[in-house]
Amino acid sequence: MHSNLQQIINQSNNIVFFGGAGVSTESGIPDFRSQDGLYNQKYNYPPETILSHTFFIAHPEEFYRFYREKMLSYTAKPNAAHLKLAELEQAGKLKAVVTQNIDGLHQAAGSKIVFELHGSIHRNYCMECGSFYDMPFIRDSLGVPKCTCGGTIKPDVVLYEEGLDTATVEGAVGAISKAEVLIVAGTSLTVYPAAGLLRYFHGKQLVLINRDATPLDDTADLVIHANVGETLANIM
Ligand code: ZN
Repeated sequence: MHSNLQQIINQSNNIVFFGGAGVSTESGIPDFRSQDGLYNQKYNYPPETILSHTFFIAHPEEFYRFYREKMLSYTAKPNAAHLKLAELEQAGKLKAVVTQNIDGLHQAAGSKIVFELHGSIHRNYCMECGSFYDMPFIRDSLGVPKCTCGGTIKPDVVLYEEGLDTATVEGAVGAISKAEVLIVAGTSLTVYPAAGLLRYFHGKQLVLINRDATPLDDTADLVIHANVGETLANIM
């Protein structure tokens, strides 16, 4: 039980949460960059090659074989962190969730204001006509999923070599720059764009929750080296 975190949350109605892969690992979703994450799994190409724009265009079948198996095969459910954040938003205390995860678990938990910096596996669009397709359609299709118009369907996930969505970044920057309390959790803060976005925070208290130390530990008002879900589960 972190009484300081409880106190900080009690005293603010303008909290923003910024989460990385560590928020989802407790739901059983592998962290791309951790030792036992996707990078260590055997495949013909390294994941960062397969999950690049160039590769998607050149080898869509190979991309989708990997994508279905590694990105869509799990049956993850929101964990204590997702549920608590949805609760805090409902109570009017949390203004927004900014996430680097693409699993949609914040929305599954009930959160409404979510800025998904790297997109979502739950949105997929035809590259020709823009028609929308949901995740089960992609998961259950074979080979390269095709639109009724014949176009190739692409997940609305930011691949390597691709830029972030401007409106999403602007929304995240707006929320962070107006926040009184910023809780940064489950990220080492070494991966773009996490570190850059934090520069927009000018509020009162910066809280870091991460299992390992981060470069910002010295500047934070409160640092908790623990699992995100376990930590937030104890908040009233
Ligand atoms: Zn189409």
